[in-house]
Amino acid sequence: MGSQNNHEGTLIDYRNGKYLVADDPVIGFIEGDGIGPDIWRATRPVLDAAVEKAYGGRRRIAWKPLLVGEKAHRETGSYLPAEALEKIREYRVAIKGPLSTPVGGGIRSLNVALRQYFDLYACIRPVRYYEGVPNPMKHPERLDVVIFRENTEDVYAGIEWESGSPEAEKVIAFLRDQLGADIRPKSGIGIKPISPMGSKRLVRKAIEHAIEHQARIVTLVHKGNIMKFTEGAFRQWGYEVARDEFADQVVTEEDLYAKYDGVLPEGRILLNDRIADAIFQQLLLRPAEYQVLATPNLNGDYLSDACAAQVGGLGMAPGANIGDGIAIFEATHGTAPKYADLDKVNPGSLILSGRMMLEMLGWPEAAEMVEKALQQAILRKKVTYDLARQMEGAEEVGCRAFGEQIIACMP
Ligand code: NAP
Repeated sequence: MGSQNNHEGTLIDYRNGKYLVADDPVIGFIEGDGIGPDIWRATRPVLDAAVEKAYGGRRRIAWKPLLVGEKAHRETGSYLPAEALEKIREYRVAIKGPLSTPVGGGIRSLNVALRQYFDLYACIRPVRYYEGVPNPMKHPERLDVVIFRENTEDVYAGIEWESGSPEAEKVIAFLRDQLGADIRPKSGIGIKPISPMGSKRLVRKAIEHAIEHQARIVTLVHKGNIMKFTEGAFRQWGYEVARDEFADQVVTEEDLYAKYDGVLPEGRILLNDRIADAIFQQLLLRPAEYQVLATPNLNGDYLSDACAAQVGGLGMAPGANIGDGIAIFEATHGTAPKYADLDKVNPGSLILSGRMMLEMLGWPEAAEMVEKALQQAILRKKVTYDLARQMEGAEEVGCRAFGEQIIACMP
């Protein structure tokens, strides 16, 4: 199976778009800053217990610590030591708690640095409702989507110049003199690059996910009616991927009516598209009509948080940043420093990110065990403060105790 076998676990391999995972895969973990160590202490036993119970001890994860963040800075002088980067590349799969953004020091954000370094181009956020979680909707259970957000391009590419800077003035002069664009003096300038390669590989991942999970609909989200050559092109390239690479599996919305009288043939996936502002309404009013969404960077950022809020907030929203042959699973919330070391916060986001990871390893029984046990633990109403304060009759427990509750709910 993997490329190296010893008592310390087996390295995960990646060939032809597939992870090759032995029964004792090496997986890296970054505890993270602030509440990171608290939620990791609660999460690891949950994941280990699920694997142990699902496979009767035949499988186990060989966890390896990765030194990144404030602890790394204290011990090595660097927030993101080269050794950790090398190890992540070697292990291919890692899970991380939140990292605080160093003030000064030239790094915008460690998370962004990791995404860029490993070209983790797809940010994947599944959003579904867990019964009993306080939420603002009448029917939160109708939302069950996976959002694929492009992670490397768009206005988030970091290509921007401050108002009044020589660079901004130069760009403004170029656009005015060479291309006839009228831009107000003293404008700040940001660039929005969206490429065929970047768009296509993201949409490809979303379609592959739909095929693997028997989803019926993939929706391209864009603002192409206004931004024709960036977001409009994203839409066009998305349809091209479907036509060129998935012609036997995917039917476009246009073909659905032109060729199939509006009825999706059995076993096929519908690829449609929606304008970004409309999708916010649609996901509130007709959530059951959406399953997998593929979006450019900025739209996806807003949409993931809006969806997470719909089912009860960000405290439990999981996520993953995925490239080709490398995947980092992460809690989507921040380091909440005021709660650090209090054993208080909800570890749900990291635990559910771990569930995503187990699924990607090809261990669906363990993934399901985590999900079902978490659901049971919430129904038993012994939950962390964030849920307890909104649930009638709930008993507040600490971070680690909540993890233990989850393990106690495993068969
Ligand atoms: P935050 O750390 O997410 O915390 C904001 C609030 O969200 C907390 O005060 C708490 O609300 C709630 N919260 C967050 N995680 C929770 C959990 N596990 N359980 C229960 N409640 C939770 O956001 P922030 O204060 O804006 O950011 C702090 C630092 O985190 C910054 O340095 C930022 O750069 C970094 N950050 C890192 C990541 C990442 O690594 N992926 C992501 C975002 C931010 P209440 O006060 O209402 O209890």
